[in-house]
Amino acid sequence: MPIDYDYEFADECAYCGGSWECDDHVKAYSKGGVYTIPCCNECNLNKYNKGLKSWLREVRNYWPEKWEEIVNHHRWRRNWLSQMVHQIRDEW
Ligand SMILES: [Zn+2]
Repeated sequence: MPIDYDYEFADECAYCGGSWECDDHVKAYSKGGVYTIPCCNECNLNKYNKGLKSWLREVRNYWPEKWEEIVNHHRWRRNWLSQMVHQIRDEW
């Protein structure tokens, strides 16, 4: 599922549904990324400059509380990010 740059996320963390506290560069700013989505500080700090899929897999493997928040937040959503979350969830 390619990134839909026109998709508008709600005013909440696009990853976990927490508070919108910052804007996350989906591809790290340090690696030339310019596209941002709303994000909570917790997700943003943890993701840092990792690639999106690598970060999601890391959360799934090592941070079960956050992964549960992310999976629950995306359970009934069908946007490009939700589809990525579903795909990584279903790899197991
Ligand atoms: Zn978050």
